[in-house]
Formats: sequence, structure tokens, C-alpha cells
Amino acid sequence: NRRFVLAERPKGEPNDQTLRLETVDIPEPKDGQMLLRTVFLSLDPYMRGRMSDAPSYAAPVEIGQTMVGGTVSRVVTSKLEGFKAGDWVVGFTGWQDYALSDGRGVTPLGAHPSYPSWALGVTGMPGFTAWSGLKEIGKPKAGETLVVAGATGPVGSTVGQIGKILGLKVVGIAGGPEKCAHATDTLGFDACVDYKADGFADALKQALPDGIDIYFENVGGQVFDAVAPLLNTAARIPLCGLIAQYNATSLPDGPDRLGWLMGLFLKKRVTVRGFIVFDDFGHLYPEFAKEMGGWVEAGKIKYREEMIDGLEQAPSAFVGLLRGEAFGKRVIRVGPD
Ligand code: NDP
Repeated sequence: NRRFVLAERPKGEPNDQTLRLETVDIPEPKDGQMLLRTVFLSLDPYMRGRMSDAPSYAAPVEIGQTMVGGTVSRVVTSKLEGFKAGDWVVGFTGWQDYALSDGRGVTPLGAHPSYPSWALGVTGMPGFTAWSGLKEIGKPKAGETLVVAGATGPVGSTVGQIGKILGLKVVGIAGGPEKCAHATDTLGFDACVDYKADGFADALKQALPDGIDIYFENVGGQVFDAVAPLLNTAARIPLCGLIAQYNATSLPDGPDRLGWLMGLFLKKRVTVRGFIVFDDFGHLYPEFAKEMGGWVEAGKIKYREEMIDGLEQAPSAFVGLLRGEAFGKRVIRVGPD
């Protein structure tokens, strides 16, 4: 049983010293437990926060502890009622080949799910984040304008597509022409602006003649600087993530603009609400599962995945995710189906 444990808390970007690969015996399930074999491991930006012991909404991974993470697994042996060998499940068993489970936090996916890994993306946590943040905080009304950053990632791509289903004008912000083309041509956004191109702020303004009613924030940093002046009166900002600063070790250079920003929020009467998806909206999960399941089945929501083979690739693939190298949902294939 291979597993990655946290060896050292990173300062800035994680490096070769951050995680350590260990090999231990495969555990034996006792009564009331089952043994799970990981097939897919999800890589998600929040994992950077768990490597740090700075105060946050969730406890950090301890040094020497297996790195946490969402997984899709198959049951190897079960001494737990309701689960049998061969079943597919989605859970939170971390960066390892095998794990014991007593069934808590584990959701069955049945014997033959069509796309089991999607439970780590569009039909799982990131999809739920998009759906709940947009609906509950964005409070979308048909005809309004929605802007979403990180437009081709698992959260952003879903936010924009739900926006289209709900009758909004949707403008994405993404890094590079390839991602932008994907947002418009495949995901059906009305426009997408490349924040890495020269003249980004002007291009964004051009794309938004009616301003912004909802800004779904995944990124922070310089993208927000271009967005802020375009916010309409009574705009809503579901504050979901700030990936541009997860590896930062200090505040950026430049003048303190907090007063300017607070003034903007006041004058424009902007609602900004941070949320942690399961803490805030966990009670809505069944409603999400039903609605999103229907949309995906009907082909109304497109989903792009980047499958990377081998547990040993997880640390470098994770660093790449934080650098913006992922194009779609990054998943590690840990073991065979
Ligand atoms: P993504 O795949 O969207 O995250 C990676 C992408 O972020 C990159 O590919 C990159 O796309 C974009 N990005 C933009 N600016 C930067 C930057 N400065 N450095 C690195 N990457 C950048 O991940 P998810 O869809 O899983 O998550 C999106 C956001 O939602 C994250 O901030 C995450 O933390 C947050 N989140 C919050 C939850 C909550 O409960 N609040 C739950 C789940 C996710 P590009 O090339 O287009 O720039």
C-alpha cells in the first residue's frame, strides 16, 4: 500500500520535500469496516491550505499523516452492511492505494457507474460548489450578466454553463487562447477574455457593455482589479476561491487599496459572501445531485477531464494545478478499474 504523507509544511510552492511516498501493509478490515482500493484521486486547490497550519476553516494535515483528498474507489472486501466487493464508492480516503472505511462520508456509486471519475468533478464537490455558490449567493435572474474567472476549471466551467441554462449572459476569464476558445466554442459562453494577453482590462470592458451583475470569484489577484470597476449597482460576488494567492508568502507590493475597495462596495451596494461549500450548503446536496444529474444526462453540461496515470505523479501534478497548468479537472488514475 503506497501512500503520500505530509513530510514538511511548504513555504510558498510545494517542493520535493513536501510529501513523502511510503509503503506500508494493506490494512485488514474489522467488523463494520470495508477495504477500499483507490481508482481515482482528485487534485483540488484547497489541498494547499491543508498543508499549512495557518488558521483556516478545516484542520491541517499533521506532519506524517496521509495527505487528504477526494477519491473514487472500489470495495475489495466488506464487513460492512450495504457494501459488497466490486462496488464503486466516492469518499475522502486520501493520497493512497488502499484505505479502511466504516462507511462515514462514503457515497455509493452503484455497480456500473457510467463515468465514475466525474463524481470528483461535475457531479461531485466542484459541481456542487458551482451550483450552490451561483444560485444561493449569485441569485441569478435571466438577462443579467455573469462573469466567472477560472472559466475552464471544474468549478468555473460549471458556473458558466449553469448561467447559460438560467438565461444569463456569461463572460469567462481564462488564461490563454486555447482555454478561451474552449469556453466559447464548447462550453457555450457568450465571450471569454484572456487575462494573460496585453490589454486585458480594456478587452474585459469591451466584452461587458452592460457591466457585471454577478462576479463568481475563483481567482483573486490582478483579475479582480480589472473586474471591480465594471461591477453594477447591487452586484453579487460569490467568493469561492483565491487561487492566485494560495502559494503567496506575503501581500503584494503596491499601495494599500482597502479603503478604495470598501468604498466601491458601499457606493455600488455590492454583496460579497465567502462560502465553504459543505459547511454552508450541505443541506442542498440532494437537490443539486438531482438537478445536475439531469443536466449531465441530457448533455446540457459539458465536462473536461485531465487524467494523469500513477499515484507517484500526484505531487508534481498538484504543483502544476496551482501554477495554472491544468486544463479541465485534474484527476490521478491510481489503480486499474
Ligand atoms: P481550477 O482548475 O479552476 O484551478 C486551477 C485554475 O485556476 C488554473 O488552471 C488557472 O486557469 C486558474 N488560475 C487563475 N489565476 C491563477 C493563478 N494566478 N495561479 C494559478 N492558477 C490560476 O480549480 P477548481 O475549479 O477546482 O476551483 C476553482 C476555485 O474554487 C479555487 O479557487 C478553489 O480553491 C475554489 N473552491 C472553493 C470551494 C469552496 O467551498 N469555497 C470548493 C471548491 C473549490 P487559467 O489558466 O484560466 O488561469
